[in-house]
Amino acid sequence: MNKETIDKFGRRLKYLRISVTDRCNFRCKYCMPNNNFEMMECSDILRYEDILFASEVFASLGVNRIRITGGEPLVRKEICQFLDKLTKIENIQEVMLTTNGALLEKYAEDLYKAGVKRLNISLDSLIPEKNKYITGVDKTDEVMAGIKKATETGFAPIKVNSVIIRDFNDDEIVNFAKLSAKYNIICRFIEFMPIGNSENWSEKNIVYGEEIINRLKDFEPKEMPRDINSGPAVNYKLNNGGIIGIITPISKHFCSECDKLRITADGKIRPCLLSDNEIDIKEALQTKDKDLFVKQIMQSLNIKHDEHSITIREKNHDFKRTMSKIGG
Ligand code: SAM
Ligand code: SF4
Repeated sequence: MNKETIDKFGRRLKYLRISVTDRCNFRCKYCMPNNNFEMMECSDILRYEDILFASEVFASLGVNRIRITGGEPLVRKEICQFLDKLTKIENIQEVMLTTNGALLEKYAEDLYKAGVKRLNISLDSLIPEKNKYITGVDKTDEVMAGIKKATETGFAPIKVNSVIIRDFNDDEIVNFAKLSAKYNIICRFIEFMPIGNSENWSEKNIVYGEEIINRLKDFEPKEMPRDINSGPAVNYKLNNGGIIGIITPISKHFCSECDKLRITADGKIRPCLLSDNEIDIKEALQTKDKDLFVKQIMQSLNIKHDEHSITIREKNHDFKRTMSKIGG
C-alpha cells in the first residue's frame, strides 16, 4: 500500500484536519457572522463512521496525525467514543483536538482515556469581560478550569491560542507570556484573518507577528528549532521559562510548508483554509468507495496552491464559508 503521498510541490501528506461539527457553544465575532448565520443541516453532517472510513484511507496514504476541530468538537454527541476509535486506526500516531475549552473540565479525562494526548485551547483574553465581548458568552472561569484540569490529567504540551486584534487584546500579549511560564503551556498568537466575519475585519486590526515579538523584547525571545509539534507556529523560548508561538497566516505565508488537507463537517475536502476550492467526498464516504475517494484525494492535492491568495492589499475577502464551517 502507498505509504507516502506527495503533492505537485513535493509536500508530503502527513496531516489531516477534520471538522466534526459547525455547531458551537460560543459565538466568536471573528468566526461566526453577526446575522443570517445558517447552521448546516444535520443530515449534511458526516456520520462518525464516514469520518472513520476517511481516516483509514488517509492513513493508508501516509497521514499519521489527525487534528479534530469544528465548530466546537466537544459539543458533538459521543465525541469521546468516536475519538477512541479514531486513535486506534493503524498508522495514526497522534490525534489532537482544538477546543474553546468551556467543556474541557468535564471531558479532559475521557479524552485522555480515548487516546488524545495533545490539546489546543483557544483563549483570546484573560479578562472575563473582554472574553464575553468577543465570544458572546461568559465562560473565562470554565476555560481556565479546563486548562487546569487538562494539565492535571497529563496533556502535554498544552497550547493556548489567541487571535490578536489591535485595540482589543494586544495589551495582553505580555500577560500571556507570563501565563506560559506560570502554567507551563505554550501561548501562541495568531494574526487576525479576514475570514468568517470579513465585514469587521480590517488591516489596521491585524497585529503582525513581527510586532508581537517586538512587544516581548523584555523576555529576550529566542527562536526555537522547528519540530513535529510546532505546526504552523514559530516558537520562542522566553527568559521567564515560558514558550510562545507566532502564527502568521497573513504576513508570512506558510503554504509551501503545508502538508495538510482539511475535511469539513459536511464532507468536503478543502485543500487550503484560505481558498474556496473544495471537493465533495460525501458520496464516496457513504458508499465506502475507496477507489473514488483516493482519486478525489489526489485531485485535492492537485488543486492545492503553492501560496494562498490572501494579501493585506485585498479588501474583499468574500469566502463562502466562515471559520466555524471550515474547521480552523
Ligand atoms: N471551537 C474551537 C476553538 O475555538 O478552538 C475549534 C474551532 S476554531 C474555528 C479554531 C481556531 O480558529 C480558534 O483558535 C480560533 O481562534 C481561530 N479563528 C477563528 N476565526 C479566526 C480568524 N478570523 N482569524 C484567526 N483565527 C481565527
Ligand atoms: Fe466557536 Fe471556536 Fe469559532 Fe469561537 S472560534 S465561535 S469557539 S468555533
